[in-house]
Amino acid sequence: MKAPKHIPSGDPVDFASSDTATTFWPVITADPKQFEINYQAIDNSLVGSRPGRCFLAERSGGARRHVGLDLFCAHRDIVVACEDGIVVAYYGFYDTSAGELSYALFVQHENFVINYGEVKGDAQQEFSWRIGDKVRAGQHIARVSTTNMLHFETYINGTGRNQRWMTGAARPNRLLNPTGYLIGLATRATGQAGAPLAGVTASPVSAAVTSAPAATHAEAHGSNNSHPKPQIKEFIQSPNHSSRNGSGIDMVVVHCTEIPLKETIKIFQNPGGRQVSAHYVIARDGDIYQMVSDSDRAHHCKGANKNSIGIEHVGGETDSLSDAQTEASAGLVRWLLEQYDIPKSRVFGHDFAPGYDRSKGGTSCPDMLFGGGHSQKAIQDWVGKHV
Ligand SMILES: [Zn+2]
Repeated sequence: MKAPKHIPSGDPVDFASSDTATTFWPVITADPKQFEINYQAIDNSLVGSRPGRCFLAERSGGARRHVGLDLFCAHRDIVVACEDGIVVAYYGFYDTSAGELSYALFVQHENFVINYGEVKGDAQQEFSWRIGDKVRAGQHIARVSTTNMLHFETYINGTGRNQRWMTGAARPNRLLNPTGYLIGLATRATGQAGAPLAGVTASPVSAAVTSAPAATHAEAHGSNNSHPKPQIKEFIQSPNHSSRNGSGIDMVVVHCTEIPLKETIKIFQNPGGRQVSAHYVIARDGDIYQMVSDSDRAHHCKGANKNSIGIEHVGGETDSLSDAQTEASAGLVRWLLEQYDIPKSRVFGHDFAPGYDRSKGGTSCPDMLFGGGHSQKAIQDWVGKHV
């Protein structure tokens, strides 16, 4: 296959590239054109039968650029994860001509995020995953909507929302060009020895598969949790996490950030410095951000990280939780307690968590957020009242 052109010329979008060994074609379909990728090649020729499916094809009469690449398939075909990853977002995306609201499904993979776009809206029920769950390469994650195509977008790590590109506007800063990656996947899937792709990392040839294994349930689905997991606004992966080394989860530790939301997220995203993180951060307006998978150890409560889930609440030293924060936090704690079979008595303030290393004199965290002063009794009273 010809190498794709770096477009638009002048200020081209970087290619999404992966050197992950195990990869799957993103959709299981009987469409004879399933591996046809429409794109502009380096010699400027157009490859494929439908130029309108190309990355950066014109939309809305030229007012907008198509920031994905549309793959051939049919309504209800199975969409699979191309690589191992973490589900980071799922939301209503596009009204189909059949009157269906199709969804965007964002999965963070090793080197970039894929938006498996225009999928059906009931994927969470059918395929039993939640935002923040790990998925494996080849895992069934959704079905194609009545657009009868998979709209495939790629973004840099940490993205949980699609970007649009109006003609004449600046290039969306998180967008990647998926063309070379898809050519690599198609090449592997069909066993064709494609030409080397300029600007695209060469991929080891393996996993030449067109079908995926049966759906595997992501971790942490052992119970039928009667409480829904509250909506996660965005999963922003923190690099500051490690293995639980086989430890189970048996407590929840609540914190006060003492700094604003943006700064908190920035510090948790910083791989240098103090290398801190928490599983969840709850903003003053009740929005919940997840930054570490439950199955991993976050770095929020020294000495008590391996067996705990850490929840940060944005607030100052003298603040109480806002009403929206109370509701969001109580909903999240309720879900966690049932999910991991933790008793209510095992919700602790940072300073009061069993195992917490107080050798440096303890911490003022979680301050006054939970009312009644800085004490574990205040935390337990709050849990009794709200959870
Ligand atoms: Zn703390």
